[in-house]
Amino acid sequence: MPELPEVEAVRRGLDERLAGARLMEVQVREPRLRQPVPSLAPWVGRRLLRVERRGKYLLWRFDEGTLLVHLGMSGHFTFVAPEAPPGRHDHVDFLFEEHLLRYGDARRFGLILPLEADAERALEARLGLEPWDARLTPEFARERVQGRRRAIKEVLLSGDVVAGAGNIYACEALFRAGIAPDRPAGTLDEEDWARLLAALRAVFEAAIAAGGTTLRDHRTVAGKGGEYRGRLSVYGREGEPCPRCGAPVRRVVQGGRSTFFCPVCQPPGRTAW
Ligand SMILES: [Zn+2]
Repeated sequence: MPELPEVEAVRRGLDERLAGARLMEVQVREPRLRQPVPSLAPWVGRRLLRVERRGKYLLWRFDEGTLLVHLGMSGHFTFVAPEAPPGRHDHVDFLFEEHLLRYGDARRFGLILPLEADAERALEARLGLEPWDARLTPEFARERVQGRRRAIKEVLLSGDVVAGAGNIYACEALFRAGIAPDRPAGTLDEEDWARLLAALRAVFEAAIAAGGTTLRDHRTVAGKGGEYRGRLSVYGREGEPCPRCGAPVRRVVQGGRSTFFCPVCQPPGRTAW
């Protein structure tokens, strides 16, 4: 499932080639995604100004209106040659002035929908702050989870504090910050949050630069897998030595999801290195 860095890598790939281009034609071969793709005929002739991202959503800003795109579990965009025959799971083609962009999605959990202004306000209200939002300070984060007994790992996944931190990056950031994943979120002080937010940003930035992490389906618009997987410290590395101290990395299940951590570097209740 693509997380924030994968979606950001896709955003950059799309924005680089398509910003300023006019949409010439759309072909929907299979409208049955998570919600049915509506007729996109009205969008033909409009100019795509830029592609933005909020959380794991892509916002295609046209000179008239915004299209909301979510990659779901397995959605991906690829620039293809005009004569390239579509595969079985290639559901939508967007022909821009100089580029043919193809949307493929084997599991069809993706979304392609016009986004009205009131729906965008509702989306904004639902998503946490972006990792780089200036309002996301240690003080804000601490106040937001004050008194909460829920594990910090699960609070990160919930998106209540910061948008887009999925399982991989939550595990990696907690490791980097030296914070046990099962610590009650309300016990983190501002120093803990300062380390955790810095760790999240660093992990995201490195992952975006590497094109994201490909476990299964994620591909960049160039059709390549992301290369961050080889640089993960704890995620998916149960039993392997911790890169910092050499102790075996452990896996536990929290809220139905695997959590990977180092019991030495992330001891219960520890607040600083
Ligand atoms: Zn360790």
